[in-house]
Amino acid sequence: MANDKNLKITFCSGAGTVTGANFLLEGNGKKFLIDCGLIQGEKFVDDLNWAPFPYDASTIDILFVTHGHVDHIGRIPKLISEGFNGKIYSVVPTKEITGIMLADTAHLLSRDEALELDKIYTPENIKKTIDIWETLEYGQKLNVDHGFQFSYKDAGHILGSGMLEIIYNNKKIVFTGDLGNSPSPLLPDTEVIKDADYMVMESTYGDRNHEHRDERKKKLEEIIRDNYNKNGNLIIPTFSLERTQELLYEINSLVENKIIPEMPIFLDSPLSIKLTDVYLKYGKYFNTRAQKILSEGDKLFDFPGLKKTLETEESKAILQVPPPKIIIAGSGMSNGGRILHHEKNYLPNKNDTILLTGYQTVGTLGRLIEDGAKKVHIMGEEVSVHANVAKISGYSGHKDSDHLVEFVGNTAHTLKKVFIVMGEPKSAMYLAQKLRDNLEVNAFTPTAGESVIIEC
Ligand SMILES: [Zn+2]
Repeated sequence: MANDKNLKITFCSGAGTVTGANFLLEGNGKKFLIDCGLIQGEKFVDDLNWAPFPYDASTIDILFVTHGHVDHIGRIPKLISEGFNGKIYSVVPTKEITGIMLADTAHLLSRDEALELDKIYTPENIKKTIDIWETLEYGQKLNVDHGFQFSYKDAGHILGSGMLEIIYNNKKIVFTGDLGNSPSPLLPDTEVIKDADYMVMESTYGDRNHEHRDERKKKLEEIIRDNYNKNGNLIIPTFSLERTQELLYEINSLVENKIIPEMPIFLDSPLSIKLTDVYLKYGKYFNTRAQKILSEGDKLFDFPGLKKTLETEESKAILQVPPPKIIIAGSGMSNGGRILHHEKNYLPNKNDTILLTGYQTVGTLGRLIEDGAKKVHIMGEEVSVHANVAKISGYSGHKDSDHLVEFVGNTAHTLKKVFIVMGEPKSAMYLAQKLRDNLEVNAFTPTAGESVIIEC
């Protein structure tokens, strides 16, 4: 490095793809990691995850985590097994969310004996992850020797999500993590950044805009009422973290304001039930509207008719409950979890409805159903699909293309460079071009493994 004050960023993974966030920032004798996530493709865990990290884990001083999604935290046990002995920092709720998500990941991985994960995803490594984890409030500053200062701003993506701001030698470097699709029903809007010199930003939806954002609650109401009138079963495959709580929050409002009739509604996912408890515990991180409702005594995620089925026997008994009813279960793309049992039971019935609330990756059962397959295979059995397939597309947790540009626009006048990561190459390159054209900023799309020097 020409100037020993300069810093180096290595995009270890999470560049040119949407998963596996892992970035190394080094300089002036210090090494920091930002996120350490699982690489997920068509498989829940890509084989690439088991390759050694491109750095010596024992030399890393601190790992900063932006939020608790598995593609940002899922390789921390591996980092520990490779000798990481520093500290981990995040915003307060992310620590507890990570503990739950890692335990769930360990459980899912343990089913695949070929992965030989017993040395990495041990209870000891998960416990150590939590033991060395410190937390910060939004805006709280952490000074680290050799002139580094760190703090988080609210990203508005999921509970506890933070954009990491680093001040070093009077320069500000921002790692956005994932950026929320504000306004969210539950969370505050993404905070504005006006003074960044360098930014490493996500681009999941870099080349697309969301549709019908404002209509989703109306559509949810119509689908629920329609199912009630048909005396049907409505099954909703849902992601456990954030999407489930958003959905419960909206159904809570529909039920308590008597916009929809009361009926049995099952939250049939142990992971969702645990995470919903964490959301309730950390209500002070919600937006002012949700906090106000909470302060008036409304539990937000609990309402007449809701039943949380933690045990397998309780889950099996749902079949005996006569319609109309609603079942919310994971996984969100129907590639595992209790939702499969419900899909097997209800997809053949023309009076029943499956409601898709999120993106369905190619190769998943959810995608086959979305694409109109008339026959699918579930747990080794052929199942015919006669149920209605409904979809609400406004439930994304990520900013769309126009809003990503707007976000960068607030700091375009101070930005020296922006690095576009966490997106498919097409999406990242489209966003980079749009930022150059609309805002005249220096936008780059690094590839996995690439290093850059930033002048400080
Ligand atoms: Zn995320």
